[in-house]
Amino acid sequence: GGGRAELTVLVLGLDNSGKSTMLNALRPPELRAQHVMPTVSHQQDRFQSGGVSFSAWDVSGAPRHRALWERHYRAAHAVIFVVDAADHLRLVVAREELELMLAHPDMFGRRAPLLVFANKSDAPHALAPMLVAAALGLEKISDRPWHVCASSALSGAGLADGVAWLAAQLR
Ligand code: GDP
Repeated sequence: GGGRAELTVLVLGLDNSGKSTMLNALRPPELRAQHVMPTVSHQQDRFQSGGVSFSAWDVSGAPRHRALWERHYRAAHAVIFVVDAADHLRLVVAREELELMLAHPDMFGRRAPLLVFANKSDAPHALAPMLVAAALGLEKISDRPWHVCASSALSGAGLADGVAWLAAQLR
């Protein structure tokens, strides 16, 4: 005993939003993969770093897989929701998934902070974080602290800012 309890951060988002690339960039160098494989709907991608356990799921898979990530809601101290800020059409789908998550009985009314990465900010036509926040309806969220941060999982830009915000919320 005596050690600090491990924090669990759930990383969710549609396929192709950049979760695997992001997790790889957050991994300690010795655990980093040379070739990043996309997150697969029925598999979790997980690793631990500095007392934080990250676990990522694709939320765009078959509905029958939903229970796989939903059962991790209870233990999550924070959620990172990754969206492709350049994929304007699928932001509508991402919003639906985000709303389902926030309304889930194991998530609703909990203080677990929500960090949204408006990822692929390097891509042409990527929406600015404020526009991503509007597209996702984040201003309606009142039961938890939330923050949206532009990121490029490819270059690593913005990742440290987002993680620093999350760490400050969990302190
Ligand atoms: P996942 O399905 O959410 O795990 O997404 P991946 O991490 O596999 O990324 C999907 C694709 O988007 C890959 O081709 C990545 O190289 C690319 N990608 C991920 N993050 C970024 C980013 O920040 N900028 C750009 N331009 N491409 C990205």
